[in-house]
Amino acid sequence: MTEENKVEKEELEKLVKKNGKKAVVIMTYNSVKGFPAGIHSEGRVVVYSWNRHAHRGDTPAIAKQLTDQFYDDFDLRRDGELFEHVFVYTGINAIDESIQTAQSIAHDWKTGDDETKVTMVGCECDYNRKSRIAHNNYQVDLIKCGCGGESVLGKIAQQIIEGVDPKKIRDYGEK
Ligand SMILES: [Zn+2]
Repeated sequence: MTEENKVEKEELEKLVKKNGKKAVVIMTYNSVKGFPAGIHSEGRVVVYSWNRHAHRGDTPAIAKQLTDQFYDDFDLRRDGELFEHVFVYTGINAIDESIQTAQSIAHDWKTGDDETKVTMVGCECDYNRKSRIAHNNYQVDLIKCGCGGESVLGKIAQQIIEGVDPKKIRDYGEK
């Protein structure tokens, strides 16, 4: 695991307290266009990413490492109050790991409400499988992106910073 992906809990806690706005996590084994791994906009957006386009064969291990890092940095049962929503890029190369991550976070994160907590951001590859997961788990949603996800994930980060409610972000209708 690279240190570039570690997020300091104390730092995020301070920012969330100061701003009164919870953090939105964007996780991807590729990258988020315009938003390198780490804390952005005073804690409003937190990116866990590989910061580059992952080579196909490496993606399952990278996806798993990023999830482990997130779980190392935060205990969702205790630190859930820090977060408002999580977006997980769900591509084809690490589809099992990404789906697993989305479902685990939705399960482990005790928010006190029964709304959607996690949005999978998925390309069209094996989209039916992703749809089924979202359909069968009301805590997990799905929106579309192009393969790699970089540009749509970057737009999501931008919109969150501009004040858009993460639960209201829908398909951009483009790839
Ligand atoms: Zn794809």
